[in-house]
Amino acid sequence: PLVLGFETSCDETGVGLVRGQTLLADALATSVGEHERFGGVVPEIASRAHLEAMVPTVHRALADAGVTPDDVDAIAVTSGPGLTGALLVGVAAAKAYALALDKPLYGVNHLAAHVAVDELQHGRLAEPSIALLVSGGHSSLLLVPDLARDVESLGRTIDDAAGEAFDKVARVLGLPFPGGPPIDKAAREGDATAIDFPRGLTGPRDAPYDFSFSGLKTAVARWIEARQRAGEPVPVADVAASFQEAVADVLTAKAVRACRDTGVDHLVLGGGVAANSRLRALAEERCTAAGIVLRVPSPRLCTDNGAMVAALGSRLVEAGVTPSEPDLGADSSLPIGVVSR
Ligand code: ATP
Ligand code: MG
Ligand code: FE
Repeated sequence: PLVLGFETSCDETGVGLVRGQTLLADALATSVGEHERFGGVVPEIASRAHLEAMVPTVHRALADAGVTPDDVDAIAVTSGPGLTGALLVGVAAAKAYALALDKPLYGVNHLAAHVAVDELQHGRLAEPSIALLVSGGHSSLLLVPDLARDVESLGRTIDDAAGEAFDKVARVLGLPFPGGPPIDKAAREGDATAIDFPRGLTGPRDAPYDFSFSGLKTAVARWIEARQRAGEPVPVADVAASFQEAVADVLTAKAVRACRDTGVDHLVLGGGVAANSRLRALAEERCTAAGIVLRVPSPRLCTDNGAMVAALGSRLVEAGVTPSEPDLGADSSLPIGVVSR
């Protein structure tokens, strides 16, 4: 099936076209620059930007794929989780296209879509797989028995998301927003063993698959303050590398442990933080050592985009999942167990 996918859960307006598991177009507009001076995404600004970008982005996706609206077999849209006002723009657009083209509509879970996108590059996901989903708003370990119908949460962050920690640490280091890419870059020149930052929730009695990054974030901020009080320069590259190491260490250790405990030997990474070069390298190293098959989408497909929504939509059509009702709405806190609705 040819599936048109809409993504507007945060600050990216994404429109993707997928045929089966083949990526045909992935048009993206972003309001990221408009949020920079606020140090985080401002919902009203994001919603307005989605409204302005939506129709041109749809046209660009259709042109890139060389298809017409009549060629489309089904429409998929992120209906949650995310910012309500932002989600509603995508849902309204998807409903309008579904109605005008008389095609089925699938409201999908943004997190499951972050997992589904890998199929565009590496083919069908092994089922069950373990998924490590790390982004600006989420950090979760998932068990995926059936990507079209059954995704289960093994654990999640109890405070900040991994991407949020990157963004906040970048801010105290004076690096631009979003913080992941500049920290990744600065860390390349730094020593990851320079500072021993805390690894949250890794004690013997801690929940094995939950994460905590707020203590790490505070430890980095305190360390920098102490340097500044002492009148010493802040070694930005070393702080970036040591912080990044702490995040990558915890994420990969817990993901490998989840595979071992459940007897699942396939791990897939997804979400914006999965674009991180150190996380990718350490995951590869530890999975190889543990006999786990690792799959990681290319960095461009790790962050929010429309192709991931189309990829999950295509999976749903193929699995014969019932389409959404025409009154589909947005659910800012859609649980991960709900793959589509
Ligand atoms: P969610 O998917 O939870 O709704 P989101 O839409 O903000 O959140 P994504 O676009 O998937 O998420 O990810 C954005 C996050 O990824 C930001 O926090 C950003 O700093 C982080 N990120 C992007 N690239 C990198 C990188 N190379 N290293 C670390 N973090 C990164
Ligand atoms: Mg984003
Ligand atoms: Fe996302």
